[in-house]
Amino acid sequence: MSHLSVAKFGGTSVANHAAMTACAKIIIADPNTRVVVLSASAGVTNLLVALANGVEAEERRKLVGEVRSIQENILNELKDDSCVRPIIEKYIENIEYLSEAASLATSAALTDELISHGEMMSTQIFIEILREQNTTATWLDVRDIVATNSHFGKAAPNDEQTQANSDRVLKPLIDRGELIITQGFIGREPSGKTTTLGRGGSDYSAALLAEVLNAKDVLIWTDVAGIYTTDPRIVPTAQRIDTMSFAEAAEMATFGAKVLHPATLLPAVRSNIPVYVGSSKAPQDGGTWVTRDPQPRPTFRAIALRRDQTLLTLSSLSMLHAQGFLANVFSILAKHKISVDTITTSEISVALTLDKTGSTSSGTELLSGELLEALREYCTVKVDTGLALVALIGNDLHIAAGVAKRIFDTLEPYSVRMISYGASTNNICMLVQSEYADEVVRSLHKSLFE
Ligand code: ADP
Ligand code: ASP
Ligand code: MG
Repeated sequence: MSHLSVAKFGGTSVANHAAMTACAKIIIADPNTRVVVLSASAGVTNLLVALANGVEAEERRKLVGEVRSIQENILNELKDDSCVRPIIEKYIENIEYLSEAASLATSAALTDELISHGEMMSTQIFIEILREQNTTATWLDVRDIVATNSHFGKAAPNDEQTQANSDRVLKPLIDRGELIITQGFIGREPSGKTTTLGRGGSDYSAALLAEVLNAKDVLIWTDVAGIYTTDPRIVPTAQRIDTMSFAEAAEMATFGAKVLHPATLLPAVRSNIPVYVGSSKAPQDGGTWVTRDPQPRPTFRAIALRRDQTLLTLSSLSMLHAQGFLANVFSILAKHKISVDTITTSEISVALTLDKTGSTSSGTELLSGELLEALREYCTVKVDTGLALVALIGNDLHIAAGVAKRIFDTLEPYSVRMISYGASTNNICMLVQSEYADEVVRSLHKSLFE
């Protein structure tokens, strides 16, 4: 294991000149941080996604104008913008051109090409921010390293190819002592087109690079000083968790704790690389270490919330005493690349939840007409939306005495649409109406953590 750390800074951390300067100071203060992965400046990816969905000329001008003004606000504060301003102008021209193409015909590949510009611009500007702090850094196009398949919008990395690229291109730069600034979120597929790893994917990029570099840790610098017992935006009194296990953090990320992208823990677990989460605005406040086997392992660890859930209820009388119904349903879902989260069954029906949040970079509809049609050939299909999944994360929840009573007592005033309990030792999930999701989180947090 080397002494190298890979640091990642998220969108709010690179939102403006002051935020970027704070990041630069964190990097300079830690000589082990040799590879830096950046997100796009806050707001830019959302604007680019809107453009990629194809909009009329007037709206296009407005949205491109907003992208430009986010970047120009930073450029205007640079002491010397002469090198980087023309580079950013070129990217903006490219954004205009690609947006016009998207207004004629959208495509997943075009979307990824367009939205990759956010990370390209933030990393170019960041080189100048470091220069202002008397630090020279090397800008690297991460697409030369992160190889993926062609699943645009949510591409899967090709680990061997990524390792080979890193050995060939990245390692020699690091061995020469260079400080590398590169993009999160994006990669390149075999034919050379740009891909993205799904919304929030920069955390995943950082973990992937840490793995191929055999780094000692991944440092995720964000806008909160660690991982809390629940989203501090919902419960301001949530407490910071100082150390937690990979398994706990993975459950939290999977069930909606946006602070880490769900795939981040894959390389970390595989290669046993500790992950640190801290605040780029207040690095002195400390943060959370996620490691393989920290102690203690409390029964209740945290509460996560995932909004925008869809419940599919599939019923068929022919399911009675029959075999193969679930197999059929799952094969249809698999064919449409739908992953099922929680599921409950009865004799003649099965209810399952699908995650709509952050599924692909473009946020396209999950439930296509084709999928519903295929399902309706087998059974009646009911689709419920406006739901949220509240997940209680912990350890040995399935065998701990009294857990159900404490949860059900707290949930008494609310109507709970579905509960998943017992499949996992690490979580209990409850599906509730969106409008009281926050309230359910606050009540559960109060009774289990305060
Ligand atoms: P970045 O842009 O740095 O990637 P994100 O917005 O993706 O940052 O993630 C940070 C946000 O995650 C926080 O502002 C917070 O609202 C949210 N969050 C959700 N659950 C948690 C949690 N359990 N602990 C800390 N933050 C959480
Ligand atoms: N910029 C990308 C997004 O907003 C990736 C990231 O921030 O992690 O989803
Ligand atoms: Mg994020």
